[in-house]
Amino acid sequence: MTTKTTVNQTASLIEVFSAIQGEGLNVGTRQIFIRFAFCDLRCHFCDSAHTWNAPATCRIEQTPGSRDFEIFSNPVSLPMLIKWVERQNIPRLHDSISLTGGEPLLHARFLSKFLPQISLTTGLPIYLESGGHRPEQLATILPYLDSVGMDLKLPSVSGESRWQEHEKFLQICYEARTEVFVKIIISRDTDVAELKRSAELIAAVNAAIPVFLQPATPLTDVRQIKDSAVLTPTPKQVIDWQALMKNFLKSVRVIPQTHKMIDQL
Ligand code: SF4
Repeated sequence: MTTKTTVNQTASLIEVFSAIQGEGLNVGTRQIFIRFAFCDLRCHFCDSAHTWNAPATCRIEQTPGSRDFEIFSNPVSLPMLIKWVERQNIPRLHDSISLTGGEPLLHARFLSKFLPQISLTTGLPIYLESGGHRPEQLATILPYLDSVGMDLKLPSVSGESRWQEHEKFLQICYEARTEVFVKIIISRDTDVAELKRSAELIAAVNAAIPVFLQPATPLTDVRQIKDSAVLTPTPKQVIDWQALMKNFLKSVRVIPQTHKMIDQL
């Protein structure tokens, strides 16, 4: 699998927009989303497969929340991205900036230049959403992050197996005292032994790290339903699995993707 890493002060984007965060610890807050192109994982449940490669163009919202997108060519320059994010930052609207994708850490070198500048000009906290499999790149930008949401990929659900990387990733966040939480997608086919292993892995770093079990969102695309075996778990599975994980961890919450329930981006 080809890995693409930005080497200069440009980055390939999918989109920039203002929206309500629908997942994890920041659920319900208003964020400026920067969705980066490229991902080197291939999760079975991925709802962002359009991010796996860089499109020729990206879409940039002009007015926060208005979906009045303008189209620009990829890759985009650092000053352009700063200008677009600053334009989104109208007084008192946003709680933070979300770096999402794709896998934002494939752009770590770009981010190490971009983040100090955007923190200074907007004053907004920076939140990273990551697949949790690139601890080396995380370490290079951690000083600029205020919080991190790490996906822990269960092999039985995602098709990816990254246990060692996840452990290192969490450890780095914990040692830096950066706020971190873990999100685990669960489906009807979740292997319970993997859930237990996840709980033990997280507890070995710190049992107080918040964990979010996110039932797989039922797919609406007919093509995807035919091609995918990812089904949402049963009510009994969800309640049993939360109980299992609470044997090891202090905070295990079950939250589905709320932005999809209220028809948000
Ligand atoms: S890490 Fe995220 S963007 Fe990449 S394949 Fe998995 S779900 Fe999709």
